[in-house]
Amino acid sequence: MEKNNKAVVVFSGGQDSTTCLFWALKKYDQVEVVTFDYNQRHKEEIEIAKEIANDLNVRHHVLDMSLLSQLAPNALTRDEIEVKDGVNGDLPSTFVPGRNLLFLSFSTILAKQIGAKHIITGVCETDFSGYPDCRDVFVKSLNVTLNLSMNDQFVIHTPLMWLDKAETWGLADQLDAFNYIREKTLTCYHGIRGDGCGECPSCKLRKNGLDTYLQQLKKENS
Ligand SMILES: [Zn+2]
Repeated sequence: MEKNNKAVVVFSGGQDSTTCLFWALKKYDQVEVVTFDYNQRHKEEIEIAKEIANDLNVRHHVLDMSLLSQLAPNALTRDEIEVKDGVNGDLPSTFVPGRNLLFLSFSTILAKQIGAKHIITGVCETDFSGYPDCRDVFVKSLNVTLNLSMNDQFVIHTPLMWLDKAETWGLADQLDAFNYIREKTLTCYHGIRGDGCGECPSCKLRKNGLDTYLQQLKKENS
């Protein structure tokens, strides 16, 4: 059987998906990325994704998913909804119901079109912020469903699934992409690149991981 070595990375221009892109570039001969436009608060997200794809010389697909914000208004798409963590078992206000279900399904349909067998996503269960569609069991279940739906053999890869944020920085470093990811990616809910605003839940998570990783490095080198 001929080895299929083409991959599609679900790509937002953030720390996690950019780490996944560098990971895929080491592993696969042909890599393309897909970004979803769902009326994110920050149009910069798509511009930054474009710029990174361009820097790394990969083909960039942008798919219109504006129906998602039509169906499920939330803090990522509506300025008037505040970004906050989930309390008392509630989901955070940034949760978009069904987002990864749709993103992975559309990414796999795209993979079918371009002849790729591998789909890579940066979802992660370790820093579980309560998103049910970031769980490993969900991704595995969807993988089976997608294969049945298209009578095909796609493999969804989740290289960050069991890493914490410090380990994700470690992986970026192993991939020789630490500085690039630190400076060029956008994780902040307020649309500020690199180290971000430092205040929103996303920046805090990123900064805690970065500080932990840098401390570990210091210890190893002392
Ligand atoms: Zn921020």
